[in-house]
Amino acid sequence: MSSSTEYDDSTPLARELADLRRRREALSKDPLPAPDKTRILTVSNQKGGVGKTTTTVNLAAALARSGARVLVIDLDPQGNASTALGVEHRAETPSVYDVIVNEGDISDVVQQSPEFPDLYCVPATIHLAGAEIELVSLVAREQRLRTQLDAYLSATEAAGERFDYVFIDCPPSLGLLTINAFVAAGEVLIPIQCEYYALEGLSQLLRNIQLIEKHLNPRLQVSSILLTMYDGRTNLARQVVADVREHFPSEALQTLIPRSVRISEAPGYGQTVISYDTNSPGSISYLEAAAELARRGAPQ
Ligand code: ATP
Ligand code: MG
Repeated sequence: MSSSTEYDDSTPLARELADLRRRREALSKDPLPAPDKTRILTVSNQKGGVGKTTTTVNLAAALARSGARVLVIDLDPQGNASTALGVEHRAETPSVYDVIVNEGDISDVVQQSPEFPDLYCVPATIHLAGAEIELVSLVAREQRLRTQLDAYLSATEAAGERFDYVFIDCPPSLGLLTINAFVAAGEVLIPIQCEYYALEGLSQLLRNIQLIEKHLNPRLQVSSILLTMYDGRTNLARQVVADVREHFPSEALQTLIPRSVRISEAPGYGQTVISYDTNSPGSISYLEAAAELARRGAPQ
């Protein structure tokens, strides 16, 4: 390889580094506003592998890093959010299963994430896999998470330890666990992967949310759509972004989450990308998305 080729390669790199530096500085300028009351966001999309868990843990970590008090509820038997937040979730660990199926208190199962002092997680264990079936025969089967979460949030607020944000990470299905998340929340955040089938299934998801709003939770709103795994080199990704922005002009966040190896590596170390590689493009993008979410505030 000739030295002139190396020099040519380094120019866009230098430009990229300068851009990252500029974005980092912009992020550190103004503190983020705290919400008037706890915002509860369900992160949902029945499509698998679109970035629900990655979005949940990294937005939560980004907000906690900026001084917010944040709770993540892992509602997926895979327990991926628990893994990424570095909290214990072996089979015998007290978990969200005890909360939903046995009406246990959240305070008995919640754990502090080693990621940030103000970041907490209600872990999921493999037991949750059976909950979808066990819930069918239980009373108030759609409201069980909400009842426990409301009680916990009231108690923490009374103790002067109010949470600013709660994120609920859903499994890739529209079963009773996801319905419990929709009933407990005020907002839905939908991650959409920038790929060919991105919008397929979205109308079914929106219909289900409308049904929940009508029958079970009138305050529920789709507040945010976040485009994930964006690769600006492909026309396809750019087309997905254009389509989503056209259909959802007020919900789609301006921030795009790039496809990034650092984002996918972080959970292997029991970390979010926010702590694993704070200054990487993936981390900065999630910090920007979190800032956008905070500045927009809750929908009216
Ligand atoms: P599931 O439906 O199984 O719960 P999910 O919607 O929660 O999946 P994730 O687990 O967040 O999706 O992401 C799916 C895979 O893609 C993971 O291996 C994750 O590390 C990877 N991934 C997510 N976002 C990115 C990104 N921006 N860049 C690179 N890899 C990513
Ligand atoms: Mg997941």
